[in-house]
Amino acid sequence: GTPLAVLAAIARIARTGAFVKGGAHLEALSEVDVVAFDKTGTLTTGTPRVVGLRPADGVSEKHLLLTAASAEQFSEHPLAAPIVDLARKLGIALMPADDFEYRVGSGIAARINGHEVTVGSRRLIPDAPRVVRDQGEATAVHVAVDGRCIGTVLLADTIRDSAKTMISELTRRGIRTLIITGDTEPTARAVARELGITDVRAELLPHEKLEVIRQEREAGHRLAMIGDGVNDASALAHAHVGVAMGSGTGVAQESADVILISSDLHDLARTVAIAKRARAIVM
Ligand code: ADP
Ligand code: MG
Repeated sequence: GTPLAVLAAIARIARTGAFVKGGAHLEALSEVDVVAFDKTGTLTTGTPRVVGLRPADGVSEKHLLLTAASAEQFSEHPLAAPIVDLARKLGIALMPADDFEYRVGSGIAARINGHEVTVGSRRLIPDAPRVVRDQGEATAVHVAVDGRCIGTVLLADTIRDSAKTMISELTRRGIRTLIITGDTEPTARAVARELGITDVRAELLPHEKLEVIRQEREAGHRLAMIGDGVNDASALAHAHVGVAMGSGTGVAQESADVILISSDLHDLARTVAIAKRARAIVM
């Protein structure tokens, strides 16, 4: 049967606000030497604000926002709600849209008034002009109609209060940290700098996140991956320990071994500490 110390540890962890799906995951947790973090929705709150509208020449700010919001109106991605909310707040009536296609890790496509509208990263809209950002950590969401870029919406996310102390806690325990994100390099670097993380892998599609996990495993590391999105699910499933945010998507939670119910990142550091102590007792 499961050793008593393991059951006791799982109960202790549950009181801190994390749910461990079984004793085997506790043992895996106790061996972790690397933690990989998703950025949007994990290290950040995932509730960004629109901080700038940069329409192309001849395009109004209103038209840019209307087009982006109409395409995003049914999207569950964390970048969609603030765009739709701003349009509503400004009294802009959305256009009907259909044929939605979620491009995991890069954006969304929709058909609006007979035109193909795409909203997302440069991977989806390669001809988007470089935009000057006042805030380094702002994420650029480009908008294109029939493949032609009509402008960029800038969104800024907030780093979770619990992120910074959690990272230093893990570092103190000799655990290496890295960010694996679908967002761009400058945006990810700005967040990493603030948190004291030096290893950043940016502009990754879901299968590329998984590839990073594979490489770390092949190098002999015991890796925990923590994320919230559909784009994190396969990486969570292939890490030694997959950890999902309570605020995250159902798919992420199903793929994970541990769930941080209240999305408090301190619970991650606490869970690892309890797991290591339980192992010391059992072994
Ligand atoms: P992360 O790995 O940081 O959680 P994602 O993989 O979900 O980020 O998204 C990566 C990038 O793709 C985002 O930074 C954004 O530029 C773009 N993107 C993805 N989905 C959407 C969407 N629905 N609307 C706008 N942009 C999107
Ligand atoms: Mg995410």
